[in-house]
Amino acid sequence: MLVDSHCHLDSPELVSRLDQVVAAARVAGVERMVTVGTQISTFSRVRAIAEAYDFVYCTVGVHPEEAANEAERITVDRLIAEAAHPKVIALGETGLDYFYEAAPRSAQEALFRTHIRAALATGLPLSIHTREAEADTVRILSDEMKTAGGKTLRAVLHCFSSRRELAEAGLAMGFFFSLTGMLTFKKADDLRAIVRDLPLDRLMVETDSPYLAPVPFRGKTCEPAFVVHTAQKLAEIKGVPMADIERATTDAFFRLFDKVPR
Ligand SMILES: [Zn+2]
Ligand SMILES: [Zn+2]
Repeated sequence: MLVDSHCHLDSPELVSRLDQVVAAARVAGVERMVTVGTQISTFSRVRAIAEAYDFVYCTVGVHPEEAANEAERITVDRLIAEAAHPKVIALGETGLDYFYEAAPRSAQEALFRTHIRAALATGLPLSIHTREAEADTVRILSDEMKTAGGKTLRAVLHCFSSRRELAEAGLAMGFFFSLTGMLTFKKADDLRAIVRDLPLDRLMVETDSPYLAPVPFRGKTCEPAFVVHTAQKLAEIKGVPMADIERATTDAFFRLFDKVPR
């Protein structure tokens, strides 16, 4: 059994053939999927997908790229209220994206802080998106945890592809790391070297579909069934049997996303 801990089933590429996509995932052994929210204005569509399938769950949050458009609609109270739904298992994805920088950094930071506060208030985990923004990510997280009186934030660094410094900071904060198809890319030697050193009990796999299809589907529309290829690459990197990867990543998923019944 595998879990796709982060996908976007509401994307136009997948939603038009959703029954087929979800069935293919099940055939491939992917028994849970988390469809991740990126906007509050379209969240009801994401939640409806989670409601339509027993084995699909969702998160609520605003992606940093949407920070400029959606900031006004987002408050800590709104997030807490949406997160009360039984199918909503985490906050996010949110964080900082200085690669695209589609929204001003100050707007991204404010949004990130709002989500951290909602995660701390609910005790639910946070799905963090961070790209080219390592130092600010750590600064904001440490700052918010300090303000909360040392309360621990439960979180995953989704699509982990950052440098070793962030891996070490994430480990120290007790975070999990979720790996995408990037792990299979030819040029990802640096990422593979970092992943080799991360403890297996903190690792999960995801597709981030419809993006980042792993080899041998690179460039195609990604879908949850493809998470198997990322898991196989992880087995190769760790030098352990695939069954160990299935067990470890599934176990990590249920430990972090503990609102999902086992
Ligand atoms: Zn992301
Ligand atoms: Zn995503």
